[in-house]
Amino acid sequence: MSERTPAGQGARHKGAPLVYPLTPPTADGAVVEVAPGVLWARMPMPMALDHINVYLLRGERGWTVVDTGLNAGTTRELWEHIAAKHLDGLPIEALVCTHWHYDHAGLARWFAERFGVPVYMTLGEYYTMRAYAEPAPDPLPAARQDFYLRAGLPAEGVQRLFDGMRRDPFMAPAPPSFRRLRDGDELAIGSRRWRVVIGEGHSPEHACLYDPKAQLLLAGDQLLPRISSNVLVTDIEPEANPLSLWLDSLTRLEQLAPNTLILPSHQEVFEGLHLRTRELGEHHHRKLDQLRDHLHELGRATAFEAMQKLFPRRRGAVDDMLALGETMAHLAWLKQVGEVLRTLDADGVHRFEMVVDGAVRQPAAGNVR
Ligand SMILES: [Zn+2]
Repeated sequence: MSERTPAGQGARHKGAPLVYPLTPPTADGAVVEVAPGVLWARMPMPMALDHINVYLLRGERGWTVVDTGLNAGTTRELWEHIAAKHLDGLPIEALVCTHWHYDHAGLARWFAERFGVPVYMTLGEYYTMRAYAEPAPDPLPAARQDFYLRAGLPAEGVQRLFDGMRRDPFMAPAPPSFRRLRDGDELAIGSRRWRVVIGEGHSPEHACLYDPKAQLLLAGDQLLPRISSNVLVTDIEPEANPLSLWLDSLTRLEQLAPNTLILPSHQEVFEGLHLRTRELGEHHHRKLDQLRDHLHELGRATAFEAMQKLFPRRRGAVDDMLALGETMAHLAWLKQVGEVLRTLDADGVHRFEMVVDGAVRQPAAGNVR
């Protein structure tokens, strides 16, 4: 689940709003040249977010594709069309996946097989992809169920959540092998030198590609112009503080040239790096404020109860999962800075409460964990 934040919200700051210098391609195999040797195409998605942007980088002897779109017949057909019509007779010679999410890496295995190309990913993304390549076992192992029960989700809710996700038609098979990208690596593609810039918090080791000379950033989901990317705690790493990692990543991206042209994975290519990093940071600080208010109002609350306040509008199992993970990410941040106390109650459920003036509002009933 990603939330809309109005573009130009930064108007209350001094400085110009985001600029969108290009008309996007239609999601039907059309391409737009963003810069010499850099093509932008769109793949459709049957979801509220109805497309993903993919990019093609021209090399001496072939093209490097950045992200694939969903594991779906339509996407494969569009790639066949692009390969036949838009690549000046040159082959596809490599695939880079910014991160493992299935709109980005859904066809990684197909690319490896169909075009015989290596798949470049970071270690964190590749192995996370492998971990999620199979549907969750049914019944879910106790340790994974416990994570959701501790969050206050009723047992039938956990079952419903995973049943919904097991039916997801876009589960992506992982490629059998990969080539590793590391922070600071340089990829020479044609006359450009792309530097790998790692972001964290949305996914474990998300790779952006930055051309410092031309000031172009293939941003993946690290910088989107009008929605904020999901930042989630999941059962795989229940004690993580991904929001802290995400905010740190925004600070790192702020070091890039202010006039950088940003090629994001969703919505439009834009300018306004510093405005957008600031807006995204503010978005999460507003969420933290809302969560503080809800906790004051609720007294003690489970993550599930806090989620219902923080994200009242949800559209099904996947949204529930995302909303819960996002709520837990904000709770984890407040807990880490000492504003919130988490207690494991006798019913096996974590409850959270605000620490006021160094003390909790009321004595905790259970064990502090
Ligand atoms: Zn993503």
